[in-house]
This record gives sequence, structure tokens and C-alpha cells, in this order.
Amino acid sequence: MSYQKNDILTVTIEDMGHDGEGIGKIEGYTLFVKDTVIGDEAEVKIMKAKKTYAYARLVRIVKPSPHRVKPVCPVARPCGGCQLQMLDYQEQLRFKENKIRNNLQRIGGFSNIPMEPIAGMEYPFRYRNKAQFPVGKDRDGRLITGFYAGRTHQIMENRNCFLGVEENETILNLILSWMEECRVTAYDETTGKGLVRHVLIRYGFTSGEYMVCLVVNGKQVPEKEKLIEKLCTVPGMTSISISINQEQTNVIMGNTVRTLWGQSYITDSIGEVKYQISPLSFYQVNPRQTKKLYELALEYAGLTGEETVWDLYCGIGTISLFLAKKAKKVYGVEIVPDAIRDAKQNAALNGIKNAEFFVGKAEEILPEYYEDYAKEHPGENAHADVIVVDPPRKGCEESLLETMVQMQPERIVYVSCDSATLARDLKVLCGKGYELVRVRGVDQFPMTCHVECVVLMSRVTK
Ligand code: SAH
Repeated sequence: MSYQKNDILTVTIEDMGHDGEGIGKIEGYTLFVKDTVIGDEAEVKIMKAKKTYAYARLVRIVKPSPHRVKPVCPVARPCGGCQLQMLDYQEQLRFKENKIRNNLQRIGGFSNIPMEPIAGMEYPFRYRNKAQFPVGKDRDGRLITGFYAGRTHQIMENRNCFLGVEENETILNLILSWMEECRVTAYDETTGKGLVRHVLIRYGFTSGEYMVCLVVNGKQVPEKEKLIEKLCTVPGMTSISISINQEQTNVIMGNTVRTLWGQSYITDSIGEVKYQISPLSFYQVNPRQTKKLYELALEYAGLTGEETVWDLYCGIGTISLFLAKKAKKVYGVEIVPDAIRDAKQNAALNGIKNAEFFVGKAEEILPEYYEDYAKEHPGENAHADVIVVDPPRKGCEESLLETMVQMQPERIVYVSCDSATLARDLKVLCGKGYELVRVRGVDQFPMTCHVECVVLMSRVTK
């Protein structure tokens, strides 16, 4: 059965896609329908038809899903940030768990998957420790700040995003009042003129410390004392800086950061490990769930204190340092040199001496290490007890998986932000002597379609 443009159909939504669009099927023909959620029965009109699928527009909801809820945020629909606010949280969790299971079945070829219940949040809002607000002007020339509307660069005014901390609004109000009083201009993307481009706010959930960094199209800001005076009325204000970005680019942060007041960083802890975070450092945005994620990775790693562990794609070494407390030795590998600098600093800050870090591609560093080891120790091979990987969405290169297997770790812990590439990589590992032992989703990004997942693979002893 195939359909054409302008056909009107009634469909039940059974799944949701990457951008939160509802997905339904009629006799094997797939329909993608924006603004619908799992469980909706909807009348839809086809806008663009292909042989086996079509994009359709919602005409009306025939029968609303029992899981449909009113979004908490008034701009949830136009804003690009959240995709799932219309779906109740329990159903969001079910959706994410199913997504992991389906990918493992469909792409990985697994059956009887040992899934543990997904770890959700008790309160799935106000979880982000970082926010970046673009600053601009509306048609009347009034200063505005908020978020870009989905897939555009049009600023939608909103100082109170429900994913961020409440104090973001107070801080934005102070900055915009300073701009108004001191006649500081907002950057205009089309002309490349104007000063303030973005406001970056970070909050240390455990320390209560705030960082404000203004991204500016210039080398300094006028009347900075007034800005500092205003921002220092916020309890916990710790670091005020500017980031210089004079390029006409979509990249938010500039590479040079100047501290205007206070420290150049804030501090935060995950479990027992402390981290110093600068404006340019990468740091997980949901610290409460990150703690669960790392604890799970640690549990799956099954460390006793005797193990040699590799943490590949280690970022600023957050997982490495978490593991180092329970292992004999941890090696971290990461492609971004600045992140490795932070990792080393954080190791020192915590008095951790058994972690070593390498800059480079995991798929180059590990094979090189393996080959060099064999040269230096004739007749022996480099061995790891546990290997942890936490790659970006594209997953691991097959050559890396190959070297990992050669190192014969008892356990491989795979932390993934994309269960499709995860499933692909696990299938490779299973073909090389490993089996799937435990799988658990951790909801790092409630209200969005992102799914994080931790997997334990174990070596099948022969
Ligand atoms: N484990 C860290 C970071 C995970 S994000 C944490 O929890 O904070 C994935 C990291 O992989 C990023 O820091 C990215 O810079 C790094 N990366 C991307 N490609 C890489 C590659 N080929 N080799 C090593 N690291 C890479």
C-alpha cells in the first residue's frame, strides 16, 4: 500500500523519532507526524510521500494518548530544546528503554537482552548545570535573550528554561539591565556588529558556585565594575569572565577567556571526586544522573584494587578518576588536548597518582601501545583487566574494537549516547569472544530524545 500527497489518514502513534516526531504505521507504510506522541490516535495529512514512508502534518487528534500531558514550559513547542514535554515522564522512560532494546535486537541481533530498569530522575526538570543564552534585539530594538527556535537562529524570548536552574533568570535579568543602563549593544549575526553574543552560566550543584561568562565580539566590556557589582548580588557568584569571539561563526565560545572578577573556574564534585571547571571545559550537564552513570560504570567494572583499566574517550578524565580510586592503574585516552590538561589537573586536585593520560585518537593510541609493548616485552602482550569506552555518537572504529579484544580484558564497559552504534559495536565484540551481561539506560536528558546507556560485556572463557 502506498499513499500520496494530501491524502488524509487516521493513524495510531507507536514510537517517536530523533526529533520527537510521532511515528505510526498503516499496513507497513510508515508515517512521521510532528506534534503527536506515543498513544495518540491522529488524523493526519500527507505532505511528502515516498514509497514506503511519508511525512505528514497533524490535522486533529482523534483520541489523545493516555500519556499526553500539558507541557510545563509555555514555549515547549516552538523551542528547539525539548522534544518530549508532551509525554508523561514514565512514558518517556519506557520510550527510551524500548529504543535501546529495539536497537540491540534489530542492529545487534541480540535476543533475551539482560536489561535492567532505566534509571530516571525523581524530578526531571531543573537538572542542567550549564546554559548558553544568545542575546539579541527584537523588531522594536528591545534587548532579548532566550533560545533559538527549533532549527533557526531566531531568538525566542525565554529567561526561565525549566531544564536549567531558577537563578539563570535572575542572572540574565541583571546582565540585561546592565546592558540597558550602560548602553551595551547586542551582537547582530547578519551585520557582525554589536558586542554581547551569548551568556554562558554554569552552576556547581554540590558547591553552590556560579560562573558567568559573557561571549563578546570585542576584547573588553564597558563599565565592567557595574556588571560585577550587579552579578555579585547573586549568592554563590564565584567566577565572572568574558570570552572573546570576533569571528562570524556559529561556534559559541571564543578561544580566549579573560577573568573579570573572582576565580577563573568553579568547582563541583561527583561522588568523592572534585573537578575544576573553566568556561571552555567539557563537563557533563546533568550532574545528578552523571553520578548514577559513573557509579554504574564502576559497578560493572567490578574493580578490587588490582586491575589495570583503560578509559577510552575519557574527556576531562571524569570516569578515569572515578575508577582510579578502586583500580591499580588507569590509563585515559582523549583526542582534545585541553581536556587532557584538565584531566591531569583534576587528578592532582584529588591526589590521584595512579592515573595516566594520553592525547590522541583511541583507535591510534591503543594499537600503538599494544605494538610497542610487544616490541619491548618479547613474547608478551599488553593486557588490560577492564576497558571502558564512552565514544561520541558515531561509536568505535572496528580497528579499535580489534585491539581491545587482543588485550583480552575480562570485562568491557561500554557507555553510549547512541544505542544504534552501540548495538553495531557490541555485535562485533560478540563475534570475538565476548557476551552481553548487563544493560541499563540512564536518563541523562529528560524531556529530550537522547538516551544514555551502560553495558557490561564479559569475556567468554574457553
Ligand atoms: N567520558 C567523558 C567524555 C565522553 S564524551 C565524560 O563522561 O565526561 C566523548 C569524548 O570522546 C569527547 O571528549 C571527545 O572529545 C572524545 N573523542 C572523540 N573522538 C575521539 C577519538 N577518536 N579518540 C579519542 N577520543 C575521542
